[in-house]
Amino acid sequence: TRLRGFVLSEARVAVGRGGRLVLGNVLVRSSGGSTVVDIPDVYTYIQASGRTSRLLGGRMTLGISVLLYEDRELYELFLKRLKSVFEASFEELDLGRLAEALEEASRSREEVGRGSEEVVSRIVPALIVVESPTKARTIARVFGGGGRRYVGDTVAYETVIPVDGVFYVATVVPSLGHVFDLAVDTGKHGVRLHRDGTVEPVYTTLKRCRECGHQFTDEAGSCPRCGSTRVYDSSKTVSVLRKLAREASIVVLATDADEEGEKIAYDLLVALKPFAKEVKRAEIREITRTGVIAALRSMRNVDLRLVRQQVLRRVDDRLVGFGISGVLKEYLRTRNAGGGRVQTPVLSWVLERYSEYVAGRGYLVRVELPYGDLAIRLYARSREEAESLAKALQEGVAVNPLSEEVVTVNPKPPYTTDSALEELSRELKLPPGEVMRVLQELYETGFITYHRTPSTRVSSYGIEVARIYLSSVGLAHLLVPRHWEEGGAHEAIRPTRPLEDIEAEALHLGVLLTRKHVSAYRMIFRRFVASQMAPSKALFRSYSIKAGGFEHVVKLPVAVVEEGFTKVLPLRTYSMPAKAEVVAPRSVKVYRGSLRPLPTVSDAVRMMREVGIGRPSTYAKAIENNRRHGYIVISKYRQSLIPTRRAFEVVKVVKAVAPELLTPHYTARLMRILEEVDAGVPYEVAVLLPVASYIEIELAGLGVKSSNGNVGVAEGVEDEVH
Ligand SMILES: [Zn+2]
Repeated sequence: TRLRGFVLSEARVAVGRGGRLVLGNVLVRSSGGSTVVDIPDVYTYIQASGRTSRLLGGRMTLGISVLLYEDRELYELFLKRLKSVFEASFEELDLGRLAEALEEASRSREEVGRGSEEVVSRIVPALIVVESPTKARTIARVFGGGGRRYVGDTVAYETVIPVDGVFYVATVVPSLGHVFDLAVDTGKHGVRLHRDGTVEPVYTTLKRCRECGHQFTDEAGSCPRCGSTRVYDSSKTVSVLRKLAREASIVVLATDADEEGEKIAYDLLVALKPFAKEVKRAEIREITRTGVIAALRSMRNVDLRLVRQQVLRRVDDRLVGFGISGVLKEYLRTRNAGGGRVQTPVLSWVLERYSEYVAGRGYLVRVELPYGDLAIRLYARSREEAESLAKALQEGVAVNPLSEEVVTVNPKPPYTTDSALEELSRELKLPPGEVMRVLQELYETGFITYHRTPSTRVSSYGIEVARIYLSSVGLAHLLVPRHWEEGGAHEAIRPTRPLEDIEAEALHLGVLLTRKHVSAYRMIFRRFVASQMAPSKALFRSYSIKAGGFEHVVKLPVAVVEEGFTKVLPLRTYSMPAKAEVVAPRSVKVYRGSLRPLPTVSDAVRMMREVGIGRPSTYAKAIENNRRHGYIVISKYRQSLIPTRRAFEVVKVVKAVAPELLTPHYTARLMRILEEVDAGVPYEVAVLLPVASYIEIELAGLGVKSSNGNVGVAEGVEDEVH
């Protein structure tokens, strides 16, 4: 209320002087001594302009709407709102084109009036299967109307989706993720191994614990993790979908647009084919009218190559994961133990970084200089050295400009999964699993494009989003459209609408967002818009910073000399002196630390991307699994990864039984086989099996000894963990 009062009084002051002010979606201005608030009412506009076209016998006639405006600013606001709510826009009025359009409109009226035989075939009952209930709800909401009904335990949404004159009368239903997964009690961990070197994966329905959320395929009827008997079997989902498929003319498998989504689509194809007239796959990359219509316009068959890759990877995960986990469970004498092709190399890397941290341990002196929030960290081997350095610093620091230059700073490409994980976990101080959950929810509620993506590509539609936003805030002259990456079906993570702030929109749509969602969205929005803007120029200056016998050289941006993308994503600059001076530091602190800091979540994600292990769908899981098993602790403040004592035992055991798992070669080799899957190579195990069989042999001869099972933070870091 106080903020609103403040904004209103500021607004009154501003417009009182004959000024104008844009506040969110409204324009405040003074007119004849009073204050006027102009609100672009897009709903009324749509309703009114809709009268120009007719729905006759199930078909639409064309209509024309010409908009005359006298206030450019108000028009821009209207356009922005229209674009974000209805994804509609205008073209400049051209009298020649208008005459042409009038002709088209009257022709369409004649045609529709002529008969309605064609009409019946244009209304298509469709069953659209997505993964989550939120995604189903968002699709229904985007196209409006319709209802919600329950079929058994499953909620189904109903809506009508018009695509090029075809009206899909759609029932949108969630599959709740995977429906089938590898069995555990058949063959070797659900995989039959044949003498000719081929493997035969055996799948069964997936069960989900309603108490702890654990997913499993055991047939026991109770959760193997927590023992609960409140278990949901996905066979129920399958029978509901079969029932609905019989009523539809087409089944559209719109599960997520990656390999996991492709595998779910394949499973559904197998399960529903005998009950459906036609089954197609659609990839919805953003849950907006444009995104859904584009997906339905380019429907295809399930991509068996992607499916085979996912199956092969799953088989490998299972053989390696179960093998390693079995050894670890025996050795550590706990059920809460596990390892895998991605998570174990990550753990081993955390230990390497930890030993570098230990080797570099000493003292850090943190000096805060009186220039904005500039702070420098200096390293000292011993406490004495650090204390005397601190003393010298307290007596005064000589700051000396050395040289300067103007540097062109380019915007970064929009986020991919790894860069989003890196920055969002660091800036918002959230563990990786939490970041992924927030992104998932922003995607499912229609605010961002699909968040599991390795690509920085921006579609033409994406560029349009940036263009509309920039012109609405008077920055159209700074637009520099960039696709960043050519080809491929994936797209970068970006906002779906030219909305900088989604709080009001979310409220309007009845979507509950937390501060985390709003902040994450804002970061994605700014980074994306900046990626479509001109470079900026900044003045960088080098400084020598001296105290006692110590000298440190830094190069810092001190001013933006030409604004570009920094208008949207400000560059952090430091107000440094242009001439030499001696200043008293604002504060000097001595604390224990290391030359090599502990690795953070961001570092781990970067490592996985650079080495080529893990994928957008597994980066976060690889870290979370290590945490869940008690091998690492994630510090709240810096998101540092700190190994526990158990981590050392785990890596020691894995090193003894399957050393190749800890090297990138194994994964690299797997990736090569996956590429060859295309050429029709069967599920060849000759290359896959070495690790799994190796573990088996070692396990037999190991005479597995137990550890004392200590879980605690590794020695000597407690004092530095915030
Ligand atoms: Zn459970």
